[in-house]
Amino acid sequence: MPSRTDSPLQVAVIGAGLGGLAAAVALRRQGHAVTVYERYDFAGEVGASLSAASNGSRFLEEWGVDVKAAKPVILKQLIMHNWSDGEVQSTYPLGDYKSKFGTDYNNFHRIDIHKQLIKSAFEGPGEGPQCELKVNHKAIEVNAEEGLVRFENGTRATADLVVAADGIRSLTRNLMGITPDFEMSTSCCYRCIIGADKLREVGLEDYISNEAIEYWGGFGINKIVMSPCSNGEVVSCYCFYPASVNNLRDDGWNIGATPQQLVETFPDLDPRMKTLMLNAEDIKMWRLYRHQPYPYWVKGKVCLLGDAAHPMMPDQSQGSCMAFEDAGALGIVFHKNFREDYGVSEGLQLYEKLRKTRATRVQEASFRARENLSERIGWSSSTDRPGKLTIEEVCGYNMRDHLAELLEKE
Ligand SMILES: Cc1cc2nc3c(=O)[nH]c(=O)nc-3n(C[C@H](O)[C@H](O)[C@H](O)COP(=O)(O)OP(=O)(O)OC[C@H]3O[C@@H](n4cnc5c(N)ncnc54)[C@H](O)[C@@H]3O)c2cc1C
Repeated sequence: MPSRTDSPLQVAVIGAGLGGLAAAVALRRQGHAVTVYERYDFAGEVGASLSAASNGSRFLEEWGVDVKAAKPVILKQLIMHNWSDGEVQSTYPLGDYKSKFGTDYNNFHRIDIHKQLIKSAFEGPGEGPQCELKVNHKAIEVNAEEGLVRFENGTRATADLVVAADGIRSLTRNLMGITPDFEMSTSCCYRCIIGADKLREVGLEDYISNEAIEYWGGFGINKIVMSPCSNGEVVSCYCFYPASVNNLRDDGWNIGATPQQLVETFPDLDPRMKTLMLNAEDIKMWRLYRHQPYPYWVKGKVCLLGDAAHPMMPDQSQGSCMAFEDAGALGIVFHKNFREDYGVSEGLQLYEKLRKTRATRVQEASFRARENLSERIGWSSSTDRPGKLTIEEVCGYNMRDHLAELLEKE
């Protein structure tokens, strides 16, 4: 029989993105009473792929999230193409990935995995009490010492632990006294999707059957990253280009573009990829930002998590995985009987120690990978340059061993 939680915590999670939901699931499972506050009437996940390497997928499995229902494509390889004619230059077979790292390398449609995390957080049965969701609750004031959150709609909440998962433009972070040091990246990104039927119609079915993340370019700003998701029914592309091309100043997830605009951004690209672009749907632009690591992640009863704590470039495909790791760390640190070992404030210090160094290392490697594909895990090797981030370090990570080491040092 599972042990009862020794004085469960009242937890307020700000933000129902992938990070906030993951935190809710991890803490629910330890018996804590979790309420998630989302500013909109629901979180707006977008139609694009999201690869969850084993360091993220491991937690999804541990939490009992129905990974299969999120219709992943299990990645088998990375493929590097020649920019102008698409010829394959190099492959990195993931071969024995599962036996080496413990889970598959899952490629999800973001909306599918978001939906499964919602189920795991707010529906029963599941371990621990069901979390509560409060939409249209935009946090506007957070008192870190008191664990008090005030919302724009006039309501307020108090909690023993406040998890700020409010994204790259986190307001909570500012209210904790952190002024982010950031700049607009010199790169922008289009994302688009295309259905499998359309791909077959235009003779590009290998883009599905390769079960791969495929790259064009990546040495310099221009890069196309393509991968299938949704049980192979959808292929999603991220297309990076110099920000100077269209001087995009707007922010957000929903700045639309036409296939013509997309294709004209890459005049000398492989004609097959151009065919995909001309048939693509749901084309949107993303402005990218480069944030330097923040001085701290914890203040009083509040901790940062996910993009609020460590926004990174998408070039390691690790932003959500790091958010899942953060959530996993909260579940491990605030386990059912944590009070036998420490209080909330010591627990939060432990969370920061466990997470900040590792996430910062991945964040820094994501900056390097923006214009250098040989820094991307899988393509990177520690023999190129000592200290390079590698697939072994990222995917083979064991958080419990890491925590035991930290505790031993104390
Ligand atoms: C182009 C691109 C490709 C990517 N590909 C991958 C990939 O393949 N693999 C991977 O692991 N990661 C990837 N990422 C990174 C990943 O998408 C993010 O790291 C992750 O989604 C962050 O989740 P989050 O919950 O921390 O933040 P968000 O998703 O931004 O969620 C924040 C939530 O908080 C809410 N909110 C904000 N302010 C308030 C407030 N004041 N009150 C209440 N609610 C509030 C928002 O509405 C939102 O729902 C990619 C990112 C980009 C840009």
